[in-house]
Amino acid sequence: MHDRREFLGSLAALGVVPLTLLAQDGRVATVTGEVAVRDLGMVLMHEHLMVDFIGAGKVSRSRYDADEVVRVALPHLKEAHDLGCRTLVECTPAFLGRNAALLQRLSQASGLRIIANTGYYGAARDKHLPAHAFKESARDLAQRWINEQRRGIDGTDILPGIMKIGVDPGGLSDIDRKLVEAAAIAHRATGLPIASHTVDGTAAHQSLDVLDAQGVAAGAFIWVHAHNEGDDASLKRAAERGAWVEFDGIGPDSVDRHVQLVKMMADAGHLGRVLVSHDAGWYHVGEEGGGTFRPFDTVFRRFVPAIRAALNEAAVTQLLVTNPAQALARRA
Ligand SMILES: [Zn+2]
Repeated sequence: MHDRREFLGSLAALGVVPLTLLAQDGRVATVTGEVAVRDLGMVLMHEHLMVDFIGAGKVSRSRYDADEVVRVALPHLKEAHDLGCRTLVECTPAFLGRNAALLQRLSQASGLRIIANTGYYGAARDKHLPAHAFKESARDLAQRWINEQRRGIDGTDILPGIMKIGVDPGGLSDIDRKLVEAAAIAHRATGLPIASHTVDGTAAHQSLDVLDAQGVAAGAFIWVHAHNEGDDASLKRAAERGAWVEFDGIGPDSVDRHVQLVKMMADAGHLGRVLVSHDAGWYHVGEEGGGTFRPFDTVFRRFVPAIRAALNEAAVTQLLVTNPAQALARRA
């Protein structure tokens, strides 16, 4: 490991590798074991393989056939792998259909690394929060997530590589604030990054204030769905604070908009704070055959060539390899 650093150091001195690659220390748990973040390759930071929107009170593994989910999802994972993707972060939280064992099976069958999550989703007006989330303290909730990071998810030995929470837009509600506090507490214990479904700048900046008060650096926070914030100043301010700003709605109809956003951030000197993904997929539990599965290909087929044209090849590497590695590295 040391030799590699020295080797990279001498290459960097010659200007052959970007210096940022030297900062790629750290490790992350995938559903098939822990890996060095520098080995993650091209990463899709925010995707879904299976989601059940029925609500926290009714979600159940009896509502789907795991074999059918594998049949539907596997070709899409193989396609992403064929297009050069090596790691996919699965952002479906508990009580929305998270099934770590199924993710492990899909990872083994596709050859794509998958990263699972811990945490609760407080967006959608709290429909996906279990009853205990309202009764317990932030510390109690954090302890549940810490336990998953130490012992495994749902009785498996599969560890989460990231926290995924969600809050509603606007000022943080009491329960949303509690989830962010819990994430901060769990981050201090586990070093897991916090990806938060935070659509607008008000909620994002209030979340960053909560982390700040809890002594957690903004670099631990990923502002998920930031492309929905129309105020560029708010996006730049989040990057200036040190947060990750994730434009994760890349689809056939939104390539241009995402390229513009990335270019705007790059022009402001914030390319090093930007993450990208599709927020696509998934097998919809409760729909015939899983409904419509949106593929994980637009980033590779259309967004990458567009970024290469608008910026350069180094920007592609930064967005899909270097930034994700840095964002996913557990801060022990
Ligand atoms: Zn999502």
